[in-house]
Formats: sequence, C-alpha cells, structure tokens
Amino acid sequence: MSGNLATVSYIGATILFILSLGGLSSPVSSRRGNLYGMIGMTIAVLATVFGPRVTMAGLPWIIGAMVVGGSIGLYAARTVQMTQMPELVALMHSLVGLAACLVGFANYIDPAAAAGLTEAEKHIHEIEIYIGIFIGAITFSGSIIAFGKLSGKIGGNPMLLPARHWLNLAGLLVVIYFGREFLHAASVAEGMTPLIVMTVIALLFGIHMVMAIGGADMPVVVSMLNSYSGWAAAATGFMLSNDLLIVTGALVGSSGAILSYIMCQAMNRHFISVIAGGFGTTSGATPVAGAAPAGEVVPILSAETAELLSEAKNVIIVPGYGMAVAQAQHTVFEITRHLREKGVNVRFGIHPVAGRMPGHMNVLLAEAKVPYDIVFEMDELNDDFPQTDVAIVIGANDIVNPAAQDDPTSPIAGMPVLEVWKAKTSIVMKRSMASGYAGVDNPLFYKENNRMLFGDAKKMLDEVLVVLKS
Ligand code: NDP
Repeated sequence: MSGNLATVSYIGATILFILSLGGLSSPVSSRRGNLYGMIGMTIAVLATVFGPRVTMAGLPWIIGAMVVGGSIGLYAARTVQMTQMPELVALMHSLVGLAACLVGFANYIDPAAAAGLTEAEKHIHEIEIYIGIFIGAITFSGSIIAFGKLSGKIGGNPMLLPARHWLNLAGLLVVIYFGREFLHAASVAEGMTPLIVMTVIALLFGIHMVMAIGGADMPVVVSMLNSYSGWAAAATGFMLSNDLLIVTGALVGSSGAILSYIMCQAMNRHFISVIAGGFGTTSGATPVAGAAPAGEVVPILSAETAELLSEAKNVIIVPGYGMAVAQAQHTVFEITRHLREKGVNVRFGIHPVAGRMPGHMNVLLAEAKVPYDIVFEMDELNDDFPQTDVAIVIGANDIVNPAAQDDPTSPIAGMPVLEVWKAKTSIVMKRSMASGYAGVDNPLFYKENNRMLFGDAKKMLDEVLVVLKS
C-alpha cells in the first residue's frame, strides 16, 4: 500500500471513529456507532499492517500476533458474562497501558528509532518515551487493581496509607529527578536504570491510586482509567510517529475525561478529591459506616407484589447491579409489557452509577428491548416519586440509599439517589439484607412504606409475572 493511500485510510478511519463516538451518545444510535467503530478499526489495522512502514519480513510476526490476540479477544467476548463486562473492560485498559510500556522500552532499545535525529529531536523522542512509559505503567497497574476491585478479588474499602499524599509527592519528585538523569544519559545502557526506576514508581503509583479509592467512588476511577488508556495510546502514537494512534488516543482520552467529569457530577464529588483518594477521611481508617438503621423490615410475597402492581396507575422500576447478576431484564420487560397493556404507566429510573459500568443498565434494558422512551435518567423523574403508586427496586442498593441525603457521616453522603421511599409503596427485591458495593447499611429497608421481596430477582419476577398473567 502506498504512503498516500495509507494516509487517506487513516483520515477515513479517524472520521469513522468520531462518528462512532457520536453514535454511542444515545441508545437509539449506539448500534450504528459500534458499526462505524468496527469499520474504522478494520481500515486502521489494514492500513497499518499493509502500509509502507511494515516490511515483508515483519509481516508474519504481525499476522501471527494478530491471530493469537484476535482468538483470545473472540474467546473472551463470546464467553464473558454480562456481569463480568466491567472487569473485562478494566483488563482491556491494562493491556493498553502494558502496550505503551513495551513500545516505549522497545523504542528506546532500537537504534533505528533514533537514527538520523538531531540533538533536539532525540531529546523530544526520549521525553515521549519517558512520558509514554509513565502513563502506560500507571494505567497498567491501576487497571489491574480496578479489575481486582470490580471482580471482588480485592476488597472495596479504600486503603489509606499514612502520609499518602506526601508519598505521592515524593514519588513524583523522584520521577522528575530520574527524568533528568534519563535525558542526560550517555548511552542506552546508562539510560535504562532511570527508566526502570521510573517504571517501578509509576506501577506503585497506579496501585496506590486505585487502592486508595473507596467503593462508591469506583465509577470515577473506571472512567478515569479509560481516559488514561487513551492518553497511553496517544503517547504510543507519538513514540511510533503514528498520527492515527495519536488522534484515536486523544479521542479516547478526552471522551474518558468528559465521562469522569459526568460521573463526578453524578456522585456529587470533586474530581481532584476522588483522584487523591479518600480525601478528607482519616488516614488508615476504613470509612465510617454511618449510623446503623433501626426498625423492622416488612417482607412481601411475589403474589402480593403482583397485586400491588396490577392495582397501580403509576409504577417506576429502578434497576441495579442485582438485575444484571440475576439476568432478570427479559422478565422485567415481560412484566412491563403486561402492565402497559393494562394501562399502567410504567417508567424506568436509571441512576448514572447503577451497576458496575457507565450505561450498564441501559445496555441490559436495550438488550431486553425495553422501549427507550420509558427509560429516564434520575434527574428526569426523581420529582415524580410522590405521585407514584409503586416504586420497584430490582437488585439496587446504594443508588436508592436515603443515608446519602440524611446521614452526613455516611461514606456516600452527598451522592444524589433515586428517592423511591417517596412513592406510596416501595418494594426492594434482593436476596438478603446485605449491603451494596459501597458497603453501607440502607435505611430504606426499614421505612414504613417499604416492603422487601427476598430472593433472586429473576426467580421472584418470574413468580410475579405468573400471578399477573393468571
Ligand atoms: P449495589 O452494588 O449497591 O447493590 C446491588 C444489590 O443487588 C446488592 O445489595 C445485592 O443484595 C443485590 N443482588 C445481587 N445479586 C442479586 C440477585 N441475583 N437477585 C436480586 N438481588 C441481587 O448496586 P447499585 O446498582 O445500587 O449501585 C452501584 C454501586 O456500584 C454504587 O456504589 C457505584 O458507585 C458502584 N460502582 C458503579 C460503577 C459504574 O460505573 N456504574 C463502577 C464501579 C462501582 P443481595 O446480596 O442481598 O441480593
């Protein structure tokens, strides 16, 4: 492929990536957005592999690596459960970080990469390598820890080391010092030591940063690591002088940064305080669990739930992570359809951090073919609960916790929540009295107008549907 054709292909792929991002902004156009992304990526890969910079000798290596990587990706995509998607995404981010590190080291060792560069160009090239590996290493280790936290392999509580901010600052100063040493190294062998020291510090920094972030703040970390993976890819693009990688990385990096901002707003948190990790909490302490709620919980049976639903005029369904675990979305849709046919006004209330990844609930509801026009953001229907007969909470917990409003000592204090307790009756569907991801007790369960439907959400909803249809 000629250089010109490769450039034109790169421009085409860039346009498709931008259209893809535009499409992904709404559930209605998201399929189209995905399609644009897939076509763009195919063009990008073909233009790179068959482009002028790949020699015939290198081709078998690249194709071999693509076959291995593609097979692993295909296997993961086919076998991964919907509930494991957030972990998989975190793992994918870690691979982008790892790639940036490996490309950085390979670029530094390869004599051809710096051949023919002037003194100033060589310095710029080395700065690109240093920054690229730095971002890549943070993304790599941070994403691995995020994977551990999202999959439950690592506890959700923030690990707050004493003097952690000073530790981070000291680490940063050492990285700057070794950056200077790296730039002044007389040979590749000499430059290797500062590069390796910086990589180790960046890896530790990534671990420390994510370990210090508490349960309910994880959505911000996930979107932030998404952003970092974009910047790591952009840094790789600079190292390889690949314009498409720079543009694509910048698109991912900036859209991830915007998502982090949206997530912070949804959680009523300041970005910097989330990144600093447990800012404002006492060093070494686990979060204050808030005052334990008092009172009795009132259980309800599925038959009674069905009765309440069929007598209602207005119903709001609030799905959460438990709906994803139970894979109850299809039964939810069946119940919705049945109630709507009977003239009940059924709407869905989606909290921005419901589930374990941005848009998690929207994806599940779209998969079950729930019409988009009855799916609302939290802000769009939070004021409507007082006029609602039944608010039914399906496997959600933190996002409907009134302690966020009422208890200033709660770790989720200040986070906006769906005010389901303002409905005439709220029904919470879950298996036990266990807390949600943030590990906080939920006073909603003890409210007078609240009922608990204990059991697996899918099983319970199947029972409700049978009664509704009978
Ligand atoms: P929560 O984790 O707060 O609660 C989920 C509830 O579902 C649990 O209390 C659990 O209770 C119940 N559950 C689990 N399995 C089932 C089942 N099979 N049937 C019925 N119920 C079930 O989820 P929410 O969606 O309310 O809140 C999301 C939380 O995750 C927030 O804290 C958010 O910050 C965090 N988070 C969100 C991310 C995002 O990007 N959206 C990313 C990372 C974290 P029980 O065990 O008793 O059944």
